[in-house]
Amino acid sequence: MATDYDSPRKNSDDGDDDSIEELKSRRSDSKGGNVDVDEFEAAEGLELPGADLSGEELTVPVMPKQENEFTCASCFMVYHRSRLAGEDKQGRPICRDCAGTG
Ligand SMILES: [Zn+2]
Repeated sequence: MATDYDSPRKNSDDGDDDSIEELKSRRSDSKGGNVDVDEFEAAEGLELPGADLSGEELTVPVMPKQENEFTCASCFMVYHRSRLAGEDKQGRPICRDCAGTG
């Protein structure tokens, strides 16, 4: 019992302490431990957005689009062609609401 309760608690405490200490040491001394912190943060940064993107792509519903309709690249709503205001820099359709042309 004592071991089971102690080990997870110890881990979380160590994690907090480590990150704070690393941040402090990183500010005061960029040379010491800089590589470790960068690698650690880079690994975390890659994991989180990657997971978020894949999750969004999976949850975004694929809407059947008519020929006279378009999907706004800004608000992702499907509008009739009459609501098409133009295209953004990537050549994707933008609705009048997002283009601000009414
Ligand atoms: Zn829009």
